Amino acid sequence: MKVFKFGGASVKEADAVKNVGEVIKLHTDDLVVVISAMGKTTNGLERVVESYLNKDGKAQENLQLIKDFHFTILNDLFDDKNHPIFNEIHNTFVEIEWEIEEEPSREYDYIYDQIVSVGELLSTKIVSAYLNNVGIVNTWQDVRDIIQTDNTHRNAKVDWDLTEELIQKVVSPELKKETQSIIITQGFIGSSSELFTTTLGREGSDFSAGILAYCLQAESVTIWKDVPGMLNADPKWFDDTTKLDNISYHEAVELAYYGASVIHPKTIKPLHNKNIPLHVKSFVSPNNEGTLINENTQDDSLVPSFIFKMNQVLISISAKDYSFVMEDSLSHIFGIFSQYGVSINLMQNSAISFSVCVDFDQQKTPQLIDELKKSYKVLYNGDLELVTIRHYDQKTIDRVTLKKEILVEQKSRQTARFVMK
Ligand code: ASP
Ligand code: MG
Repeated sequence: MKVFKFGGASVKEADAVKNVGEVIKLHTDDLVVVISAMGKTTNGLERVVESYLNKDGKAQENLQLIKDFHFTILNDLFDDKNHPIFNEIHNTFVEIEWEIEEEPSREYDYIYDQIVSVGELLSTKIVSAYLNNVGIVNTWQDVRDIIQTDNTHRNAKVDWDLTEELIQKVVSPELKKETQSIIITQGFIGSSSELFTTTLGREGSDFSAGILAYCLQAESVTIWKDVPGMLNADPKWFDDTTKLDNISYHEAVELAYYGASVIHPKTIKPLHNKNIPLHVKSFVSPNNEGTLINENTQDDSLVPSFIFKMNQVLISISAKDYSFVMEDSLSHIFGIFSQYGVSINLMQNSAISFSVCVDFDQQKTPQLIDELKKSYKVLYNGDLELVTIRHYDQKTIDRVTLKKEILVEQKSRQTARFVMK
């Protein structure tokens, strides 16, 4: 059996959903198909949560936008307006409408998970019903019956043993049937032992595919994307991108770590542990090869990769009395970053200062800087870019640093990184 994953862009409108059906039809294997929320639904649901908790009176209105979006897709997919799916989707919305009429009674992260998880329930119900309607027989599986997590809402940790046991019990019998089995399920969400819905962190659907593949010992995982595979740079910045045909798990983790956004970094580990190959392929040209990620390490260095992060801030921290920044202050500084939930993209230290490059965040960055200023002398520089080149040479460095002022430069054997203006 194989695991497929379709992200938000691959189900963002009726034609996209129809295309998912075309891609599935090309395969005769047993399939577990993991699907994200449609288009930008997760962002929309996050706005519903914000409005609900900030009591700005816009929660119902924000929810209505999401409802209209889904009903437009439904209307385009189903000629028969009496199909039971219309009622089912309507009822799913009614549940949140009721919820946001009540006063919030629990903490932010819990409420977030209960509301935002609905995006994946809606998308999978619609896709499953559509596929059955056009003769692609499938079973809808509530992933909360199989992926068990702890109760760290918004960033739940998987209980691997229990999840494996549940997946074997619930999913395997369906796959054992003689005919092709197609199981449609949700990415991103899971269930705590108290049976409340949890989420695995934004962009977590890739990871869900990794979890299912690991527990089912899948033959392979395919992530279907709107790009031909993993490219050596984001086409937003380069018009002459090259597809990486075959890279190792290690290289994929490195690229994801430095910010290549094609696959969620957590996805690789479970696949690597069981040596399950990962394909990244285009849902527009599903017969093309795409990128293969597996154990192979031969080809990693054939094509240099470029990862751009814009809107960076370089924060330079030193002791108020010019004393050395020692281990004690470093652990204090890291504590502050973690307290404000700011992740560090690059760091560098000198005798008297410690510099960190982070994504600029309207909310978090100024607060973080104020907190640091209580104990240290802090200087910062905004509006910068951070460029990482894997498998660099002088030519590739010249290409990205041309006419730029370099503030920080770091090189290791395979990787060169520049913070520039
Ligand atoms: N729908 C979720 C998100 O947008 C999960 C995913 O797409 O991977 O973050
Ligand atoms: Mg079967």
